[in-house]
Amino acid sequence: MAADDHAAIEQVRRWIDEAQRVVALTGAGISTDSGIPDFRGPQGVWTRNPAAEKLSDIRHYMADPEVRRASWRARMAHPAWRAQPNSGHLALAALERRGKLHALITQNIDELHQVAGNSRERVIEVHGTMRRVVCMSCGWLGPMQETLKRVRAGEHDPPCLSCGGILKSATISFGQALVPEVIDRAMRAAEEAEVFLAVGTTLQVYPVAGTLPAARAVGAKIAILNAEPTPMDFLAHTLLSGPISDLLPRICRAP
Ligand code: NAD
Repeated sequence: MAADDHAAIEQVRRWIDEAQRVVALTGAGISTDSGIPDFRGPQGVWTRNPAAEKLSDIRHYMADPEVRRASWRARMAHPAWRAQPNSGHLALAALERRGKLHALITQNIDELHQVAGNSRERVIEVHGTMRRVVCMSCGWLGPMQETLKRVRAGEHDPPCLSCGGILKSATISFGQALVPEVIDRAMRAAEEAEVFLAVGTTLQVYPVAGTLPAARAVGAKIAILNAEPTPMDFLAHTLLSGPISDLLPRICRAP
């Protein structure tokens, strides 16, 4: 590691030591070292297979039973069911135990932050969770594993047991509206930040990417941790380039 990187890590560490309200925004990049690929990174699902993007679009999902059947197969095989939190997730849990973490805004749907030990109240899941199922007609909610049991038993596109409607993971697909209270909470938390860490996110998915400029506007120190450049690098006080599971434990003083 270059001397510059050591200096940058030391600087972010000091900001965190001196702050009471650290806000982290995490993207798919924090979970790649747990074996869950991102979408847009160099090894991303869409980078390797652009047709896979169709599975994430609500219009195709609602209109095409074959897209739904492919989605249920993908849910059954999802690497998140076997994944364990990595040292990046554990570092953010350690930051919460130090009493520093004001909010953890995540674009991720894998719940690895909660598995790592972050409390549910601190985690703001702006894109929902893949561990629950929702009915697109009546709004029924249930655990994903129970519906996956039905898929394994031969129901390739299982309907809602209450109303017969289309079931889907409780995640926000492209073309679907975000939950306004959740995004408001994320924005408010960003505006209360003294230090804002953008971790493993391309910062291209809106409105959640807007939390970074919102934190910057109230004078928060901004650090971006990513293996690649992002369109918001110009807003950062410090850029840390490298594997998140290596960088995050250092800046959070995690064991
Ligand atoms: P993203 O904004 O989440 O981007 C991931 C970023 O992380 C990329 O810039 C990539 O270069 C970087 N990165 C990947 N691994 C890294 C590592 N080990 N160290 C440092 N940087 C690393 O965008 P996306 O991948 O296009 O995902 C879009 C949306 O899809 C997300 O917002 C999320 O809602 C969902 N998604 C969730 C998961 C998950 O829950 N684990 C996985 C894939 C996609």
